[in-house]
Amino acid sequence: MDISNINKDELIAKGKEVTDAAYQKSLEVIEKTKIRFKLQEAKTQQRRAYLQLGKIAYEQIKSGDIKPDERMQSAESEIDTANYTVKLLMRELNELRGAAVCPKCGALNPERAKFCSECASPLHEETENK
Ligand SMILES: [Zn+2]
Repeated sequence: MDISNINKDELIAKGKEVTDAAYQKSLEVIEKTKIRFKLQEAKTQQRRAYLQLGKIAYEQIKSGDIKPDERMQSAESEIDTANYTVKLLMRELNELRGAAVCPKCGALNPERAKFCSECASPLHEETENK
């Protein structure tokens, strides 16, 4: 198109239109970012609340206050398995750090301790003598 045929006012109007559109677009981007942020916050809150409810339910299943259905039982045994794994890995890690881990209750004790400070179980096999 021949730009010399367009008068100045039209050109300004056109420019304003483009600027307004760009401005509108950037407002939309900001709005979307805000919403995404709030969504993320809400999801975190949601997850935390579910987790809290799950922990309460787990404790109540363990104490016998709740009679779990099949789905709850399956989740319960998943948690049990994970807890066991966590305990084992923590023990491994702590042993690597040099702490004496009680084989009975899992409590951490000083490396040279002979008995557990929590449950008084012997910490090492009694066969080794120096
Ligand atoms: Zn112990």
